[in-house]
Amino acid sequence: MADFRSGIGYDIHRLVEGRKLILGGVEIPSERGLMGHSDADVLTHAICDALLGAAGMGDIGRHFPDSDQRYKDASSLALLDAVLALILQHGYDVINVDATVIIERPKLAPYMAAMRQALSEKLRVPPDAVNIKAKTNEGLGDIGAGNAAAAFATCSLKDH
Ligand code: MG
Repeated sequence: MADFRSGIGYDIHRLVEGRKLILGGVEIPSERGLMGHSDADVLTHAICDALLGAAGMGDIGRHFPDSDQRYKDASSLALLDAVLALILQHGYDVINVDATVIIERPKLAPYMAAMRQALSEKLRVPPDAVNIKAKTNEGLGDIGAGNAAAAFATCSLKDH
């Protein structure tokens, strides 16, 4: 019988002027973008942590520390590629990913299909195996004020 595993990931980054907003590997027109060492793609980072968590392999900070110059300003899709390679090496395939992005603005609905496409290609699953939801924070706190965005992700893996 196949071994099934589940994992959870969370991330948060500040939203600042003068940065691009990249979510799920897709550039989204916005007055503010996410601040960080890489492109600060909070959704992709949460998914990376969910994958590593499900495989019992720690988190992205352990495998790809901020001191690693390879990922400075890099696309987080490259990070996801590297994480997937680790997962495959450890004998697992992705079944599905489900994620929620919490961002006050802009509305993400027009970009959902592109994000699912980009992420599913990296994860080697069909687009319907990558579900992304978007919520606002109802104006509450730093996320509600537009100063940060967060993401939660879960995933399931099976051994191959
Ligand atoms: Mg991050």
